[in-house]
Amino acid sequence: MGAAEKQTLGFQTEAKQLLHLMIHSLYSNKEIFLRELISNAADAADKLRFLALGDGSLYEGDAELKITVEVDSENKTITITDNGIGMTQEEAIENLGTIAKSGTAQFLKSLTGDQKKDSQLIGQFGVGFYSAFIVSDRVEVFSRKAGLPPEQGVHWESAGEAEFSVEAANRPQRGTSVVLHLKADEQDFADAYRLRGIVKKYADHISLPVLMEKPRFGEEENAQDAAPEYETVNAAKALWTRPRNDISDAEYQEFYKHISHDFSDPLEWSHNKVEGKLEYTSLLYLPKRAPFDLWNRDGARGLKLYVQRIFIMDDAEQFLPLYLRFVKGVVDSNDISLNVSREILQQDPAVESMKSALTKRVLDMLEKLKKKSPEQYQEFWQQFGNVLKEGPSEDFTNKEKVAKLLLFATTHTNTAQQDQTLEDYVGRMKEGQKAIYYIAGDSYNAVRNSPHLEVLRQKGIEVLLLSDRIDEWLMSHLGEFDGKPLQDVTKGELDLSAFDSAEEQEKHQAEDAQAKPLLDRLKAALGERASEVRVTHRLTDSPACLAVGEYDMGAQMRRIMEAAGQKVPDSKPIFEINAAHPLLRKLDQEADEQRFEDLALILFDQACLAEGRQLDDPAQYISKLNRLLLDPNR
Ligand code: ADP
Ligand code: MG
Repeated sequence: MGAAEKQTLGFQTEAKQLLHLMIHSLYSNKEIFLRELISNAADAADKLRFLALGDGSLYEGDAELKITVEVDSENKTITITDNGIGMTQEEAIENLGTIAKSGTAQFLKSLTGDQKKDSQLIGQFGVGFYSAFIVSDRVEVFSRKAGLPPEQGVHWESAGEAEFSVEAANRPQRGTSVVLHLKADEQDFADAYRLRGIVKKYADHISLPVLMEKPRFGEEENAQDAAPEYETVNAAKALWTRPRNDISDAEYQEFYKHISHDFSDPLEWSHNKVEGKLEYTSLLYLPKRAPFDLWNRDGARGLKLYVQRIFIMDDAEQFLPLYLRFVKGVVDSNDISLNVSREILQQDPAVESMKSALTKRVLDMLEKLKKKSPEQYQEFWQQFGNVLKEGPSEDFTNKEKVAKLLLFATTHTNTAQQDQTLEDYVGRMKEGQKAIYYIAGDSYNAVRNSPHLEVLRQKGIEVLLLSDRIDEWLMSHLGEFDGKPLQDVTKGELDLSAFDSAEEQEKHQAEDAQAKPLLDRLKAALGERASEVRVTHRLTDSPACLAVGEYDMGAQMRRIMEAAGQKVPDSKPIFEINAAHPLLRKLDQEADEQRFEDLALILFDQACLAEGRQLDDPAQYISKLNRLLLDPNR
């Protein structure tokens, strides 16, 4: 129960920080306060309409939901009123004094203090109610929750600093009024004509009528006693129900900001009406920037669900797979029951088939964007590429479609930029090449400079350079592309004999035969360290490298699992030598067993280092290396 007397409370620390930042970083786009407050009023109406489906008495005889914007040019105030769900005193304290979004504290820590950058970050966070303080030095909220008696209203007030106050208030009318007392230098906003333009801009896509006082002309201007007449200033029709040709880009963009709480324009959208067995309309958006909670397990995701134009719920996750969780939008269905719940959605076969259609819709939108504008697609990829990479493991049906959307760095372009598709790669494959080659590691530089690439480079065979944590996992789920297997160049024996000349093949066979005694000595020297020692022809400059058994876990995946505290099956690497390398030749000639062993172990440890592995015994490596450096016979 709310207290009758006035209480003064402090804002939550995060709320205080956000408030402060907002006031100081959004000065170049002040008018967005109207968008945010109208958006909240529309949400409140949506919520009431939904609850009233189950309990019509909540309308209290007034089912005509609307928003009113009033200006008092004398007192310099703007009032935004709705007859939506309203708030109790507790809700006002909770909703207007704290920020419930998980991860807010972390997000605020990531801010740099650079106002230009930070204002963009705040934008992606969603500015919300506090944007009222961009133009006001005092904000009052009067509210009464639908279904409660008039005396259970609340009056909330704050100057936007550390504190706010709440007290009980008598409020016969249901819903909320937000009263903005404009700052001295923002009083230009208290101009009905100017305000009307702004309201129109931000409210046209909202399905609710937004009313403003009719302008008075001539003598009427002095007719102070005449009751004000109101008129609807927006189109007041749910945007997605309108035909595509009628909707301007600006309207699509504003609607996106309303539903996503994002501050920037979307990158792309797709608006479709489906008729037939299932009837529904969808409006799907690709954001420009990843939201701060993209990687939070409980971050908001999903679409806004409407049933026959009535808002049902936010964040309906059942309409898109997890790897498309960055998509924002609306789905309005005629085939779902109005009193649907999240649990029912999960089992509804209509929802399942809408999900697969919407998934294809998004993948097609991405494919189109990639073709139409590689630059924009690159922007998308940098923000969401790693989410999309979860696709092949989550969604087997669309594996091939997702595969076509992936971008990679490769030895062909030789830059860290991920901008090559698998189709690009396949188009450049050499005659006789059967597999798509890749190498995965912890960083772009580590993979780019890996000894495993030496002979591939020499033969002009392209290799995908993978350095995102998810990459090896992705490759194992993709398995193949366009009928060509994806092959890790560090796994198994890399057989490139198809690309060798007859001469080279002969030379390699001779090397193999000659190396037998050396291999035996190396095996003895390395003991348990390697599962096998063999000659390789994949190296040109390096003396040796490590390979992984064909069916063993790759080095990158192994490190990730170990870092996560998982037990990984023990598997020893294969030590591969470049028998033609001068160091190996020298080793072969080495008669002193101690020196042979030192050198063998050093080569092995170096191969570990080149792989980015940790040495078992770094001190031993150093002392052996130093002994060798001091050796007068070297
Ligand atoms: P968001 O809209 O992203 O939730 P806001 O900062 O805009 O964040 O609003 C915070 C919360 O305050 C809302 O979620 C809602 O619970 C409450 N609220 C704001 N305005 C209204 C309103 N006009 N009617 C009812 N509740 C409101
Ligand atoms: Mg809001």
